[in-house]
Amino acid sequence: MNEAAMVRSDLPVIIVGAGLAGSLLALFLARRGYKVEVFERRPDMRVTEIPAGRSINLALSTRGLTALAAVGLDEAIASLAIPMEGRMVHGLDGGLSFQPYGKPGQAILSISRQAINEILMDVSEHERNTRFHFNHKCVDVDLDGAAVVVRDMATDETRTVQGQVVIGADGAFSKVRRRMQRVGGFNYEQDFLPHSYKELTIPPNHRGEFALPPGALHIWARRDFMLIALPNLDRSFTCTLFMSNEGAISFEQLQSPYDVRRFFQNWFPDTLGLMPTLEEDFFDNPTGKLVTIRCQPYHHGDTTCLVGDAAHAVVPFFGQGMNASFEDCRVFAELVDIFGGDWAKVLPAFSTVRKPNADALAQLSLHNYIEMRSDVVDPLYKARKKMDLFLYEHLPDELYMPLYDMVTFSNIPYAQSIARAERQDRALKIGAVTALALAGAGAAYWVNKRRQ
Ligand SMILES: Cc1cc2nc3c(=O)[nH]c(=O)nc-3n(C[C@H](O)[C@H](O)[C@H](O)COP(=O)(O)OP(=O)(O)OC[C@H]3O[C@@H](n4cnc5c(N)ncnc54)[C@H](O)[C@@H]3O)c2cc1C
Repeated sequence: MNEAAMVRSDLPVIIVGAGLAGSLLALFLARRGYKVEVFERRPDMRVTEIPAGRSINLALSTRGLTALAAVGLDEAIASLAIPMEGRMVHGLDGGLSFQPYGKPGQAILSISRQAINEILMDVSEHERNTRFHFNHKCVDVDLDGAAVVVRDMATDETRTVQGQVVIGADGAFSKVRRRMQRVGGFNYEQDFLPHSYKELTIPPNHRGEFALPPGALHIWARRDFMLIALPNLDRSFTCTLFMSNEGAISFEQLQSPYDVRRFFQNWFPDTLGLMPTLEEDFFDNPTGKLVTIRCQPYHHGDTTCLVGDAAHAVVPFFGQGMNASFEDCRVFAELVDIFGGDWAKVLPAFSTVRKPNADALAQLSLHNYIEMRSDVVDPLYKARKKMDLFLYEHLPDELYMPLYDMVTFSNIPYAQSIARAERQDRALKIGAVTALALAGAGAAYWVNKRRQ
């Protein structure tokens, strides 16, 4: 540890952002004896109603659960979730087909964003050495000095807080990252998808029950756009419409309640009777943007580091953004253990380990939009999926795991999952060609034999 770092070592770790990643990382670090100060620009969601910014519910899977297990919270959080064992694909004619995600019993978990964030804050705050400061917006960062300037939103006063290290867990439009962007050697790229999303609701039916089977993620795949629905504990579903911003079928075409109703009548007729507040929801709820953010490195010297969406926001189609952010926290804590909290080693190692995997996830997430909105209704895709699941069920995991299942039901790093899936595909192709060649040779032999 250098001299400046030694002098700083009594100071708190500063975390900017008490979202999913910030709240979990606070807990990991507090449990390792660090004093942690978390600054969050929004009010405390546990006592103030905050309008849902982003998705109301999320799919939690193995990577997220593994990180939560490391702080003993996996079971408590899973008990608030609804398992979804596969996709329920809704045809235009109202027909349903179920596509399992994995082996029988394997499921992703639908959980409320607010519930998970509140638990993480509660448990983190319970640690004596952690303090959350709500209504405190980070307005500047002294990158070399490991200090942040925060504005108290209630009084409009600003103050500088000195830490031993600053962690930017402040989401896709991170202030900490914006400050790093001004430094030479830091690379940054943001790609907005020309599609956006809108959240809608299917409330419980008149008997107070789920209006659709709750054990699945429902998809109305319409090739260029799609509607999905995830179940909530109150027996409602949160639906999300993903669609192009412009063009013949797009958000810009839906300007009036009449446009919205006609669009749903044409494309999602079986949902109309389930959405009594469709038009109100459509115009009350914001239209969310979809962005991929890549940057490099995730750290600045031994003073500053980005985690979660601040480092690598991805489009939500693989349901992995939060899972990857939780994985960041677990890996960060493991590196703290390995290097005894020497930030000069921890932070570069974090960049090195996480960057290739975040890039791989960005690629997977973009690809999965096409899979969800289009491939799921393709007969060839369905046949391949069936074969994948057959091999997955009947061969040991070390020998065969479909890519979806490596990403969702394992902790195999994302980049390795892609590489392994490519190897599996090559082996399958060789196997298929060999089988065809053998069948051809067998047929030729049999024809010859009959001629003789
Ligand atoms: C529509 C949609 C659906 C999704 N579905 C899934 C899913 O099913 N599964 C999944 O794993 N992931 C999903 N995600 C991704 C997931 O939401 C994110 O990856 C996750 O929220 C990242 O957590 P984070 O803590 O890094 O960022 P955030 O959750 O964005 O938290 C950042 C926090 O920082 C605070 N902040 C920002 N700026 C400042 C500042 N200047 N000062 C102080 N505080 C600040 C914010 O108020 C916020 O509380 C989805 C995302 C979207 C948009």
